[in-house]
Amino acid sequence: MARIVQKFGGTSVGDIARIRNVAKRVKAEIDQGNEVAVVVSAMSGVTNQLVAYCNEMAPLHDAREYDAIVATGEQVTSGLLAIALQEMGISARSWAGWQIPIITDDAHGKARIAEIKGDAIIASMKQGHVAVVAGFQGLGPDGRVSTLGRGGSDTTAVALAAAVKADRCDIYTDVDGVYTTDPRIVKTARKLNKITYEEMLESASLGAKVLQTRSVEMAMKHRVRVQVLSSFTDENAPPASALPGTLVCDEEEIVEKELVSGIAYSRDEAKVTLTGVSDRPGIAAGVFGPLSEANINVDMIVQNTSHDGTTDITFTCSRTELDRALKVLKDVKVECKEIATDKSVVKVSVIGVGMRSHAGVAQTMFKALADKGINIHVISTSEIKVSVLIGEEYTELALRALHTAYGLDAA
Ligand code: ASP
Ligand code: MG
Repeated sequence: MARIVQKFGGTSVGDIARIRNVAKRVKAEIDQGNEVAVVVSAMSGVTNQLVAYCNEMAPLHDAREYDAIVATGEQVTSGLLAIALQEMGISARSWAGWQIPIITDDAHGKARIAEIKGDAIIASMKQGHVAVVAGFQGLGPDGRVSTLGRGGSDTTAVALAAAVKADRCDIYTDVDGVYTTDPRIVKTARKLNKITYEEMLESASLGAKVLQTRSVEMAMKHRVRVQVLSSFTDENAPPASALPGTLVCDEEEIVEKELVSGIAYSRDEAKVTLTGVSDRPGIAAGVFGPLSEANINVDMIVQNTSHDGTTDITFTCSRTELDRALKVLKDVKVECKEIATDKSVVKVSVIGVGMRSHAGVAQTMFKALADKGINIHVISTSEIKVSVLIGEEYTELALRALHTAYGLDAA
């Protein structure tokens, strides 16, 4: 017997027929003798519609009322799935976030889970009832409904799995796993059987939008084994226990480690270059301090060696934050000759825990790009990642070249 938390995303519960199919997947786990709790998203499109209603009523609205409104989507699905299960003769009930309770901080609209009390759900599972939990929502310290930010049901599922000490958290979605790179761009991309928390965290925050980043942080912290798998397979497909999807897990659980597990990219990048900045102590602090105070996330940073007492500083930020960043730089009157910006850049990253113990990973990247005549604007590295900023028009070419260079192409 195992204890499983299943999570079904919006497309998996997109209509009544699909919710019935989900009920069959829950039943399959019960039939194996497992204890099951289920977390559901809102039916596809519903959250977007609710958000649109809020914006239509007032562009600048009370975040607590936004939460009261958008949290309803998940509540509908949890009730419907409970009914579908009951119709199949399975004892089930729906749970809203506040009933468990899932306690969050007070950042309405993007709250963080502070604590989940697992006792009630464990007791209910032990009695053979299926708990159907509304994802995305919690209870703020002000006693009001909160929501966890877009994609937050993933985080509900992982946090619940940690709270009830589940053996596995299966995240059912419309893709069958995590790929070596974007399969829409690189036809030879492969599904990974396993990926480490660290690698998944890097690729989640780099734009591979399979799991909400916070859910991966949560899984890593509590060592929850998370499987990403498709809810659209046929009845003869292998069961979830056979791990048909991608398992996000501890490095120790991965026997055949690859040097590089994936290549991620992000188009949401803008480059800012300050030229002729005077080179003396305090200049970098004077630029990046105000940016961080304005909550602008600066990613890559390079500063050239100086000559004639001046230097150039280049940094990247999100494209959507570029205008705000420029305003901050203007307001603090950064001393420089010129501020140049470039929005037609993309960040491409190779990710792999194998880099920790192997040299030459970055060189393979630089050579593969050079062979294609792709110029690198900025480079940054971390323990398990090398990122380069290149012209956006080279995205496809770079991804394909790197995928081949690291031997990731499917046979
Ligand atoms: N329904 C919410 C959203 O669309 C939460 C989720 O599905 O994870 O963002
Ligand atoms: Mg999602």
